[in-house]
Amino acid sequence: MLKILIAVISIGLSLNAADPWINIILYHRVLVKTEAAYDVSVEDFENQMEYLKASYDIISLSDALDYITRAKELKNNSVVITFDDGDVSIYNNAFPILKKYRFPFSVFIYTNIVKEGPHAMKWNHMKQMLAYGAEIGSHSVSHGYLHKRLKEESEEQYLARLRHELVDSKNLLEAEFGLPVRYFAYPYGRYNETVKEEANKAGYEAILTVRGYENFPGDDPMRLNRRVVQRSTTPESFIKTFTVQQRKSLNDGDKDF
Ligand SMILES: [Zn+2]
Repeated sequence: MLKILIAVISIGLSLNAADPWINIILYHRVLVKTEAAYDVSVEDFENQMEYLKASYDIISLSDALDYITRAKELKNNSVVITFDDGDVSIYNNAFPILKKYRFPFSVFIYTNIVKEGPHAMKWNHMKQMLAYGAEIGSHSVSHGYLHKRLKEESEEQYLARLRHELVDSKNLLEAEFGLPVRYFAYPYGRYNETVKEEANKAGYEAILTVRGYENFPGDDPMRLNRRVVQRSTTPESFIKTFTVQQRKSLNDGDKDF
C-alpha cells in the first residue's frame, strides 16, 4: 500500500527529465591560495568558467526570473553566477575572468562590509561591476542570523531588527548606486516565515537560499535554490552540478532552513 501511495505521489509531482532548469551557483572568495573551506582558487575558478562557457547559457539573475516566472520560455539548461558578502577578491580575481568570458553575474553585499577594511570591496569596485552589467543585491546590513529571535529580544525588537537588515541595506545600496535593488540573499541561507514575509514587504522581487537544487519555471522566486561552489568542489562534482538533476519532484527542496 505504501509503495503504491509513494508511486502515485511521485507520478503526480515528478519533473520531466527533459525539462530544462536553471542552476544558480554561489561563490564567496576567489583567491590565488585558498584559506577557508568556502574559498575557490583562481585556477579552479578559471577552469570552471571555461567549462561553463563551452557547455551552458550563462544568464543574469533578471533573465533567470523571466524564465522562472514564465514571462519567457526556458529552452536550455542555464546557469546564473552569484557571489555573496563582498570580498575584494571578487573584484580583483573573479571579475577579470568574468569579463574575459563576457559572463553576467550578481553580487550580494552585506552593507557593513565596506567599513571592514582592505579585504572588502569599496563602493567604487561595485560601481565598476555595475557599469559592466553586473547586478547587485542585498545580503543584509550585518550578516547576522535572521531566522532566530535573540534571547534578549522581544517580538517587536526582532521585527525591528529584521526590517533594519532588509530595508536599510536595500535603501543604502539604492542611494549609493541610484538603481533599484531587487534581490536579497539570506545570510547563511537561513530564514523562517517571518523573515520571508518581511522580505516581501521590503519589496524584494527574488530571494536566494542555499538549498542545493535546480530551479524550474514555475518555482517560487522568493525562495530560489542555489548551489555553493567551494574549495572541496572537484572538477567532477562541479560538472555533476549541471548534468545530474538533484530534484526528482517539485516537492524536493521544499524543506526550509
Ligand atoms: Zn554571506
